[in-house]
Amino acid sequence: MTPRMHLYILASGSKGNAAVVAGPTGSILVDCGLSRRELHRRAELVDCDLSRVCAILVTHEHGDHTSGLSVICNHFDGPIYATKGTATARTHLQRLPLQAVPHSFSLDAGGMHIQAFPTSHDVADPMCFRFEVVENGHVADAIGWATDTGYLTDEAFDALQGCRILGIEANHDPDMLANGPYPYYLKARVAGKTGHLSNEQAAQALPRLVSPNTQAIVAMHISEKNNQPSLAAKALAQAVGAIFEDAAHTQARTPDGRLGICVSSQRKPLVIW
Ligand SMILES: [Zn+2]
Ligand SMILES: [Zn+2]
Repeated sequence: MTPRMHLYILASGSKGNAAVVAGPTGSILVDCGLSRRELHRRAELVDCDLSRVCAILVTHEHGDHTSGLSVICNHFDGPIYATKGTATARTHLQRLPLQAVPHSFSLDAGGMHIQAFPTSHDVADPMCFRFEVVENGHVADAIGWATDTGYLTDEAFDALQGCRILGIEANHDPDMLANGPYPYYLKARVAGKTGHLSNEQAAQALPRLVSPNTQAIVAMHISEKNNQPSLAAKALAQAVGAIFEDAAHTQARTPDGRLGICVSSQRKPLVIW
């Protein structure tokens, strides 16, 4: 696959999420858990053109994915898609002009075909997405995206298979979570079937998801309390035989140079070209 799309992860983690998938003729904003000002500041830092955004997708109602939506809506004329469960789950979302869609809907926008799939999280009806550019009947490029899910559903495995860029949640290290500061009920929630993927769960999924097309795997939604970027990267790197390239142990690459591992961040935007 050759890059037809680019991924800008402007923020990823429990304090705020927003990402832009830039396609051939337009871009999609996935979630908006940043203020409008912070969204624009981060986009500028990485030369991400927000004026190209032609649609917004909302994965679920948690505040770290939706807190900035109300203000963004006042400045955006395009469609904003969410499941009916998400759109009606919170008062501030009920007031917004969200288009209710099923969690397996598909959409053509920005020169991309987008396929949604259900995730497993402690919310009404969550979803995540696969983005494709199809040329002459063939998939020319694909980006898969799954965060905020306690496990990967069968639909998620199907949708995430063989992407050039795979963004996968590596939320917590099980030992750090077990020994960390969270109260018992919160530990159980995070580790449960409707919580978040651990480093190990993400790593175990990789053999089913990675193909010769895969060039980049990004660890997403890394907990600041129950994980470290190097632990997330280590788990994913080991699963694909990648070797660390940097002293901080957050970037790794397979010996043939084909596949890279990196981590997204709560604080700093990341671009994958
Ligand atoms: Zn989240
Ligand atoms: Zn969530």
